[in-house]
Amino acid sequence: MTTPQLPLQDQLRGFSRALFSTWIYHRRFNILFDAGEGVATSLYNRVFGIRRIFLSHGHADHIAGLVNLLNIRNLGAGDQTASLKIYFPQNNRLIDLIRDYLARTQNSLSFQLEWIPIAENEEIELEDQKSRIFMRTFKTKHSGRQLSLGYNVIEIRRKLKDKYVGLPQKDINAAIWAHGKDEVAEDVEKIIFSYGGDSRPINPDDVRKSHFLCHECTYLSVEDDERNFQQHSYLDEVLEMAKEAEVENLLLFHTSLRYSLEMMKSQIRAGLNRVNPECRVLVLYGDSIIDPVSTETNKRSRRKNRERETTEVSEQGV
Ligand SMILES: [Zn+2]
Repeated sequence: MTTPQLPLQDQLRGFSRALFSTWIYHRRFNILFDAGEGVATSLYNRVFGIRRIFLSHGHADHIAGLVNLLNIRNLGAGDQTASLKIYFPQNNRLIDLIRDYLARTQNSLSFQLEWIPIAENEEIELEDQKSRIFMRTFKTKHSGRQLSLGYNVIEIRRKLKDKYVGLPQKDINAAIWAHGKDEVAEDVEKIIFSYGGDSRPINPDDVRKSHFLCHECTYLSVEDDERNFQQHSYLDEVLEMAKEAEVENLLLFHTSLRYSLEMMKSQIRAGLNRVNPECRVLVLYGDSIIDPVSTETNKRSRRKNRERETTEVSEQGV
């Protein structure tokens, strides 16, 4: 019998440790969220599959991988002509600086590169998603000096109107015959993926009922924020936020290097007992997605990672 896969385990690749590097690649949408150091080195030729990059803010651990990534897209053995769009919080001095560096050092790119400044509550079309799926930004609370953004991938779904729920099918059919399909059904928005970047707890209204929320969790307890910068989140407040927002799956990332995997797993289990967030909780620990509740999955994901590395190394050889 095979162990059930963790939610989105086959779609997501990523790496995250606070201060060092953070990036998450969602394969289904060809979207990279943030571009911390090492992203190209980890994805190898998969970097050619990225169509859009969404940056949450301009701190080095979220953008340092751009230089290498663009260089490889320009020169590597893949589709050097595939276009790339980079969306970033507007008026960001740090991102302007790296753009300037890239413009000076890579003035003849083989592909079309577009830098697109965005604000909060902005909607972005994802042309390859048949217009039923789009991105909407929301503002996060991180640095006082620069705008930081979170991202929701939203799907438009058709849903039976409340007044018809539970009615016999023949009554629903009769209403459709009499008044048309729009009488009984309506379009509703479903957030299918959310990425918050670095932030204090996200406003629950911004990610209400998200199917899969990636939320930073730099500290396991509030006392560990010894410098008291108040820029990041700790475990219990993230779990409480997820509970209030009624998210279905929560992926914690951006965890501090001070925590071993065992420490993290046991403290998350204790947090789940305290808060009971009523959602599945996973952790992106380094480059592995870990289920802190199941020991079985941990062994499996480590083995899978080893296998993946072996395959990738051999892919590089040919
Ligand atoms: Zn940051």
